[in-house]
Amino acid sequence: MPLKGHNQTEEHKRKISDGLKKAYRLGLRKVRILTKAGLEKVISAARLQVGEKHGMWKGDKVGYVALHRWLRRHYGKPDRCEKIGCKYPRMGDKKRLMIKPKRYEWANVSGRYLRERANWMQMCTSCHKIYDLNR
Ligand SMILES: [Zn+2]
Repeated sequence: MPLKGHNQTEEHKRKISDGLKKAYRLGLRKVRILTKAGLEKVISAARLQVGEKHGMWKGDKVGYVALHRWLRRHYGKPDRCEKIGCKYPRMGDKKRLMIKPKRYEWANVSGRYLRERANWMQMCTSCHKIYDLNR
């Protein structure tokens, strides 16, 4: 039972995500989804757009984790920094010299949290932080 419930939730999430993507492609502003309780709900398709670019990170922790898991699975583990001008050693925050990047992450560069490679770039944690602060 717990496993079945889990799968249903995953399936449900996927359906909503597919629906939103479709709405986005069609340029719809509102989209109807079916909630877990089986009720129809109208939500804003703008959730996927730049206007609320940080909304996802703050409001949808589950979506964030799932998306990053997906990125890793499909594009692999980031192993370099694609940011132009990325140089080491460099001064990190806390005024500590960083000899080399701690790790690499998938950074969103389009403001559209879609599962398309063009929306993502590999960055070291440091470049990622700077990038997110400046956009
Ligand atoms: Zn970097």
